[in-house]
Amino acid sequence: MLMFLNRRLDIYIQGPKMVEAYCVKCRAKREIQNPQEITLKNGRKAIKGVCPVCGTTLYRILGK
Ligand SMILES: [Zn+2]
Repeated sequence: MLMFLNRRLDIYIQGPKMVEAYCVKCRAKREIQNPQEITLKNGRKAIKGVCPVCGTTLYRILGK
């Protein structure tokens, strides 16, 4: 519960420029490189970018 709150705070402080996403190739959280805001087919916003380590495309769905 505490970790969850801290993560929310981190996102709030860092803003949308520094976004972390889970990389399935690295099996770790990575800071998204070259993040771009996109809109998904269902109308939700997401951040799309690249894993700085392996180059895999990362997505992070933005809340609500
Ligand atoms: Zn990776």
